Amino acid sequence: MRTYSIRKRVLVTGGAGFIGSHLCERLLADGNDVLCVDNFFTGTKDNIAHLIGNPHFELMRHDVTFPLFVEVDEIYNLACPAAPIHYQYDPVQTTKTSVHGAINMLGLAKRVKAKILQASTSEVYGDPQLHPQREDYWGHVNPIGVRSCYDEGKRCAETLFFDYHRQNRVRIKVARIFNTYGPRMHPNDGRVVSNFIVQALKGAPITVYGDGSQTRSFCYVDDMVEALVRMMESKDSVTGPVNLGNPGEFTILELAKKVIALTRSTSRIVTKKLPGDDPKQRQPDITLAKRHLKWEPSVGLEAGLRKTIAYFRAGKNSPA
Ligand code: NAD
Ligand code: UDP
Ligand code: UDP
Repeated sequence: MRTYSIRKRVLVTGGAGFIGSHLCERLLADGNDVLCVDNFFTGTKDNIAHLIGNPHFELMRHDVTFPLFVEVDEIYNLACPAAPIHYQYDPVQTTKTSVHGAINMLGLAKRVKAKILQASTSEVYGDPQLHPQREDYWGHVNPIGVRSCYDEGKRCAETLFFDYHRQNRVRIKVARIFNTYGPRMHPNDGRVVSNFIVQALKGAPITVYGDGSQTRSFCYVDDMVEALVRMMESKDSVTGPVNLGNPGEFTILELAKKVIALTRSTSRIVTKKLPGDDPKQRQPDITLAKRHLKWEPSVGLEAGLRKTIAYFRAGKNSPA
């Protein structure tokens, strides 16, 4: 007897962005119908060009700050510029995207009874005084600084998720994503991994902000996508927030040296002024992700950097 599987209809907002495009690919490979919604502020059609033509993939140009009426089973809400120079370009729009975007997507989830996952961020911890960061830490965030449009926007979105859950029984998943990198990062978005690789490949100076002693923990994008999918598939009682990231912690100076070594670059390191409110250290405690999602990252920094370097070496539009 022949069996017909019923495909899930999955909406990915911000699906033409860096993480979103990898997620769309993965969801299609898993046999889902994928609706990618994006206003192309930081995402590009190049990121998903190879998916266009797949009958189970649909692309819609739409800004999530406006209502959206579609019928779906699951929503991954990733729409939001993520790099400081992008989210500070139009900070009011950044807050609107996080807050109005969350309200619209939660309203949609409520109406169609969809499960909804929010791409939150380690930035909700601000410049943390607790290290490594655990989900029960409330954070140390400046409400009026240059990062606030992003940090407070994402914090308010988390509040909305939990209030829709308590008030309307919407099935929510809040994922706090730590620094993620890999192919399809925007080459000019100013984020540290893409900046250093692009600079090293050009033989240009590697720009370390401050003295480079600040730390970050870098997660390869394939590991992140696996975590997001597992989070969506977890039991309804797993609402989060759950930290998702790679606990391997490096100083920015260590990262610069690694990139120079792996690219065999002749670039030298120069120091520049540290941007406002730049967190001093950041490392996820992933105990909850291990327990609830049976997930931990499998790609180490060097292996991930090699793949990312290969992508940038081959040119921006190369398949990843
Ligand atoms: P990205 O900028 O590549 O992707 C964001 C996507 O959202 C882009 O395609 C952009 O065009 C789209 N977008 C922005 N505003 C929109 C709007 N109003 N309506 C519709 N689409 C809109 O960034 P990314 O790194 O892929 O991040 C994806 C998500 O993950 C973001 O929500 C970000 O806050 C979160 N996140 C990322 C990281 C990271 O290190 N990459 C860390 C923490 C959280
Ligand atoms: N919304 C949407 N798509 C839907 C349902 C709702 O975009 O399928 C929007 C709706 O326009 C509203 C928001 O989501 O602005 C919140 O919806 P909710 O039903 O929670 O609130 P209300 O409409 O009562 O303000
Ligand atoms: N950074 C740097 N040189 C660069 C870009 C960034 O030293 O060319 C530093 C930045 O000051 C921060 C860290 O690298 O301390 C990570 O920056 P990114 O913008 O990638 O992410 P976030 O600060 O949001 O974690």
